[in-house]
Amino acid sequence: MTTPQLPGQPFIAYQDAGLHAEQVPLADLAKQHGTPLFVYSKASMLSALQAYQRGFAGRNALICYAMKANSSLAVLQVFARAGCGFDIVSGGELARALAAGADPAKIIFSGVGKTRAEMQQALQAGIACFNVESTAELEVLNEVALAAGQRANISLRVNPNVDPKTHPYISTGLKGNKFGIAHEEALAAYQRAAALPGLKVAGIDCHIGSQITEEAPYLDAMDRILDLVTAIESAGIAIHHIDFGGGLGINYNGDTPPAADQLWQRLLAKLDTRGFGQRQLMIEPGRSLVGNAGVCLTEVLYLKPGEQKNFCIIDAAMNDLPRPAMYQAYHHIAAVQPRPEAGAEYDVVGPVCESGDWIGRDRSLAVQPGDVLAVFSAGAYCMSMASNYNTRSRPAEVLVDGAQVHVIRARETVAEQFRLESLLP
Ligand SMILES: *Cc1c(COP(=O)(O)O)cnc(C)c1O
Repeated sequence: MTTPQLPGQPFIAYQDAGLHAEQVPLADLAKQHGTPLFVYSKASMLSALQAYQRGFAGRNALICYAMKANSSLAVLQVFARAGCGFDIVSGGELARALAAGADPAKIIFSGVGKTRAEMQQALQAGIACFNVESTAELEVLNEVALAAGQRANISLRVNPNVDPKTHPYISTGLKGNKFGIAHEEALAAYQRAAALPGLKVAGIDCHIGSQITEEAPYLDAMDRILDLVTAIESAGIAIHHIDFGGGLGINYNGDTPPAADQLWQRLLAKLDTRGFGQRQLMIEPGRSLVGNAGVCLTEVLYLKPGEQKNFCIIDAAMNDLPRPAMYQAYHHIAAVQPRPEAGAEYDVVGPVCESGDWIGRDRSLAVQPGDVLAVFSAGAYCMSMASNYNTRSRPAEVLVDGAQVHVIRARETVAEQFRLESLLP
């Protein structure tokens, strides 16, 4: 039997009996910066990006990092400096991307509920394209653009109705999802868009879900989208770019998603065969660029043996690591400095007053109070989803670059948490 590869390798790995991020011992980071602490490897992010860049070598393609996965400014900066664009879903994300040095001409704006104010903000910034998700949104964007004396570039997010075979909460391209425009209604929606003077049809867009670990849903979605491009262009409306969304999965628990370059080799072969190889292509990867570049370090507070279960109570909780509570998601958990003795089975839980506040179930761990654990695959959809539930301050974040450590977010204080609140007179 082969043991599954540890998530995050080779950038987050054991060296000299302790877990390191690149050249930095994680035990030192926990000691210096406290816990819970998010630690990211810059080389891991860039290596994940390079897999896509290799896949698209020689093509007219724009990689737009779906920044909701991890929107910390320094993380955005890493991708902006590497030439990435950004897929945003709010005015707040637009402001973050610009603050991190993003080129507005490489920003695309997705989401089912854009407000007029957000549309104005994005038009003013000069973003590349709005990914419009309903005909009602087309009408509003047309009004906002005309009022601003501009024409908004749009693509329609089309629902190709393929099953990405992932968790229902993160599957988005099926009928019955709130996202996108039904495949059957897309042509009529494009005809409407082409008739509106405040809009300019630029492309087509789809995004079928997240944590996808198979090739087939992508190949199916591509066929469906290309059929539609042919139909729309036959109706006299030019589609300049094709955006295939994000969604590629990562290894959380022995998962074996295709590598980005291999997946795109297959997809580009299909595009070439069908005569679309020279189109401008866009993709919106989030999780696959950052997920395994991060770990969350947490200290063991108490061990609580029980009749049916043993509990390992840690200082990180569902407010810091929301994925297990939200999606029953798995994060690998391991000691930063493993003990030689045999372990016991624990449910690893946080201090929050909810039974849903578990981080890992039935884990075999050799631990004692005071030990530091690493929760793996914590680079995506962790800090960006963190909350202050139970008036817990959000963790600090550090980014490791070789032997260098940059604090990219200080630990939040309780005073900062209630800064916007007022007592009654
Ligand atoms: C969330 C999202 C993405 C990124 O998904 P990942 O699974 O993180 O790659 C891309 N596009 C849209 C529209 C999204 O909502």
